Amino acid sequence: MKEFDYVIKGAGCAGLSLAYELNQNQKLEKKTLAIVEPRQIYDRDKTWSFWKTINHNFDDCVIKNWSNFTVNIKGKMHHLKCDDTPYQTVNSGIFYKKIISNLKSNSNISFFKDINEINTERSLIFNSVPNKGEFKDRLWQHFFGVEIETPKDTFDDKIFNLMDFDCDQRNSVHFYYTLPFSKNKALIETTWLSSLNNEKIMDYENQIKEYLEKKLKIKDYKIIFKEKGAIPLFKQINFTKNNEINIGTAGGMTRLSTGYTFLNIQEHSKYIRENLEKIKNKKKYTIGKKYHFLDEIFIRVLKDNPKLMPEIFFKMFEVESKKVINFLSNKSNLLEDISVILKMPKVIFIKALFK
Ligand SMILES: Cc1cc2nc3c(=O)[nH]c(=O)nc-3n(C[C@H](O)[C@H](O)[C@H](O)COP(=O)(O)OP(=O)(O)OC[C@H]3O[C@@H](n4cnc5c(N)ncnc54)[C@H](O)[C@@H]3O)c2cc1C
Repeated sequence: MKEFDYVIKGAGCAGLSLAYELNQNQKLEKKTLAIVEPRQIYDRDKTWSFWKTINHNFDDCVIKNWSNFTVNIKGKMHHLKCDDTPYQTVNSGIFYKKIISNLKSNSNISFFKDINEINTERSLIFNSVPNKGEFKDRLWQHFFGVEIETPKDTFDDKIFNLMDFDCDQRNSVHFYYTLPFSKNKALIETTWLSSLNNEKIMDYENQIKEYLEKKLKIKDYKIIFKEKGAIPLFKQINFTKNNEINIGTAGGMTRLSTGYTFLNIQEHSKYIRENLEKIKNKKKYTIGKKYHFLDEIFIRVLKDNPKLMPEIFFKMFEVESKKVINFLSNKSNLLEDISVILKMPKVIFIKALFK
């Protein structure tokens, strides 16, 4: 069986981002790479959004930038600005196409459907395949979204709504998220922060229909894309072999309190590329102990106090937008952390700290 210097297991967001980073930076001119991925087609399946707090390789896959957003609970709304760190949306279909055509031009890169087709004993393996445990009772961000097109101009495409908590919470934490790509096209998602055990809250299609028709007052529309997902809001446990490094969600690149992962994946890819020759001896890349610690407490509060969460999220956005964006994007300094922390209900968070 053929051997390769490097193997990327799972060519989704993290696997492809890393392969692209290595290929673009001449790390695969004298080295070989095997990419192992079972999927047959690479159509758009996800819509990745984030505040652009760092430069990344995929500006040409961005379909929309916004400098304004809102967050609301019943009867109250915050309008926030993000001119310095625009909120961007990457279309995964464009992302996959760009990377795959780039990788196919390098004959040192080979593609396989199954890891058993190659000999990996002496390879350095980058694994993005999550552990398939039974984690239904853990906390997930699970959601369903539709991109709709309307015959008439309907949306203000200069501003997006990050979280609309003015909706049925069903003893859980629930919000809607609206990204208007143009005046007549928008992605609307229903998002829950809960375990996956409660199937009663998964009537997603009804929720979207009701939100569109009753809240947004949109009756005439066509659905042009659907996406469904669940992002784990708990630490990934992956037992790795000596020659394996976990990347992507499997490698702990998901921010537990928010689910944001895309830019963390880009930073991790860059770190691997910069340290490739000595990566096994380098410190394990993480998104930061500080964020892990704070997120663990936040998640404990969320689990025990779902009813308070809309107000808690809303208060977080009372802080100057630059500070809260940096905090949510793991780019905050101590003063910014303190500004956000001071907005949290103290007794509840202190109790969670000692739990
Ligand atoms: C619908 C959706 C929307 C999201 N939106 C956002 C967002 O807006 N912003 C953000 O920051 N994050 C978002 N995320 C979170 C995160 O960015 C994505 O989940 C991202 O795709 C994670 O990348 P990954 O490479 O870890 O996993 P994936 O992209 O899922 O890649 C894993 C790959 O492994 C392959 N695979 C599975 N089994 C095997 C096997 N046995 N051998 C080899 N390969 C295998 C899969 O086919 C897949 O291609 C979203 C997640 C989902 C699900």
